[in-house]
Amino acid sequence: MSSKSSVKQGTIHHCDYLIIGSGAAGLMAAHRLAAHGQVCLVNKVDVTDSNTWQAQGGIAGAIVDKHDSIAAHIEDTVQAGAGLCHEDVVREIVASGHQIIDELLTLGTPFDQENGKLHLTREGGHAYRRIAHVQDSTGKAIGETLFKHVHEHPHVRCFRRHMVVDLITSQKLGIHQQNNRCLGAYILSPQGDVFTIAAKHVILATGGAGKVYRYTSNPHAATGDGIAMAWRAGCPVMNLEFMQFHPTCLYNPNGSTTLLTEALRGEGAYLVDKRNRRFAFDYDKRGELAPRDIVARAIDHEIKKSGDDCMYLDVQHLGKEKILSQFPNIHRRLLSIGIDMCEQHVPVVPAAHYMCGGVQTTVAGETNIDCLFVIGESACTGLHGANRLASNSLLECLVMADRCVALICQTDVSFANVSIPAWDSSGVVPEQERVQIKQNWDEIRAIMSNYVGIVRSSERLRRARRRLVLIHEEIASYYWQHPLSRSLLELRNLALLAELMIRSAQQRHESRGLHYTTDYPNLSKTAKDTILLPQGDNL
Ligand SMILES: Cc1cc2nc3c(=O)[nH]c(=O)nc-3n(C[C@H](O)[C@H](O)[C@H](O)COP(=O)(O)OP(=O)(O)OC[C@H]3O[C@@H](n4cnc5c(N)ncnc54)[C@H](O)[C@@H]3O)c2cc1C
Repeated sequence: MSSKSSVKQGTIHHCDYLIIGSGAAGLMAAHRLAAHGQVCLVNKVDVTDSNTWQAQGGIAGAIVDKHDSIAAHIEDTVQAGAGLCHEDVVREIVASGHQIIDELLTLGTPFDQENGKLHLTREGGHAYRRIAHVQDSTGKAIGETLFKHVHEHPHVRCFRRHMVVDLITSQKLGIHQQNNRCLGAYILSPQGDVFTIAAKHVILATGGAGKVYRYTSNPHAATGDGIAMAWRAGCPVMNLEFMQFHPTCLYNPNGSTTLLTEALRGEGAYLVDKRNRRFAFDYDKRGELAPRDIVARAIDHEIKKSGDDCMYLDVQHLGKEKILSQFPNIHRRLLSIGIDMCEQHVPVVPAAHYMCGGVQTTVAGETNIDCLFVIGESACTGLHGANRLASNSLLECLVMADRCVALICQTDVSFANVSIPAWDSSGVVPEQERVQIKQNWDEIRAIMSNYVGIVRSSERLRRARRRLVLIHEEIASYYWQHPLSRSLLELRNLALLAELMIRSAQQRHESRGLHYTTDYPNLSKTAKDTILLPQGDNL
């Protein structure tokens, strides 16, 4: 994706639809809306640098098996969600699975086939084989397919490596209309200029927030920008305490990490500590094959108890032949950093993987602000409840984009008759050093990993919040005094998100799904969403 021309500081650009983010959700929305008007598609990095491109397993919802049914998929989703799924939302999204997969096929997604039919795979928590996939890189294949349709479309203007700074709303401009309306956004260009895109409709599709933790399976872009921007604009957020951790990510403190698929444990890999002791059976009689959250808690506990940096996955006994035939990509990736999994243990840590909470929306992405929609991982519809069922998230992204576009196309909206001021950078002085940004970033991730990780307590949450308040203040003063940069904007968003996650966790006086606290180890009788309202909070 390339921006077709650069835009200068202070200029204003108009379009019908401003879409922020080019993962599955943003690309699908752009593809559909291009038929109805001018689209600006903004992406802060390269198109491949999104959670979508990382998705391996597949997309759930291909109900073609004679044993399976929509009802069974709903049941599995609700079961995983630990009493917090919104069943009307689950029904709507799950029932659309087949239609979405058909559309992806029509657009050219090369889903794996067997005997002329979709090849369906099965994942943890699913009672049946119902996951359509493209080998072990489904997200990339879906993203490439959608991108091909969007990229050269004459109605789509792509702004690659442009970062959205903040949303512009009537309320922020001091215009007192009956409803708060979103008018567009301020955008930071790669050259450091800030310009305006004014739009009739704005769609946030900015993905997850794994970067709030030290170890994550998410790429660098996952800093929760959309959730932070929507909050600052006045949107409530929901269930942010539910961060899903993947039990086994490569521990690689000096480089990038990678997911070590559950299939390795499915095929018989052991989890061991430094002394080669298998420990998974100490926590659950299913050992290494217990559900994700139990295995993640077991590894976390062993790490905390021993003071070691990581635990290990041992696959050597599977034999070289099996490893090379079933896991060639992982084998190659590990070899590239000097680990031969056929002859060595692989160091692993649990890592932040999927944000179940987000901006409170309907399935169509509607928020409480007129003309502002949030779709994909940044949104919280109630589909996942307190824990996400594997492979339901790509489905949610695409169904939300579908419903969002349908709703927008039914609405007759004209440009707001207001003058939007250019971004004001007066009073900004060149920064002397950037070490503070890096320092704050590292601190936030350490605080979240140490105090707001897989196992929480009231005291740990209090400590984390006290520290976050200080960091928040430092960033707030730094933000208004120094030139904008991508890392400063991300830091500001990350700090806000961390604080919102802690506040959400503090409100939940029970252990449910992905939220486990030693002070309230049991389930409450009634299941309730955690909803935070932004009034008065305005970093
Ligand atoms: C390793 C891994 C494996 C996974 N496997 C699966 C799976 O098998 N099946 C499944 O269903 N789900 C899976 N998931 C989850 C799924 O991939 C994501 O939930 C989904 O892709 C999110 O899509 P999205 O469009 O909401 O966001 P993303 O794909 O993350 O896209 C977000 C976009 O927003 C842009 N952006 C963010 N902030 C800004 C800003 N301020 N300005 C401009 N642009 C911005 C980013 O650059 C990016 O383009 C996996 C996730 C990971 C990390």
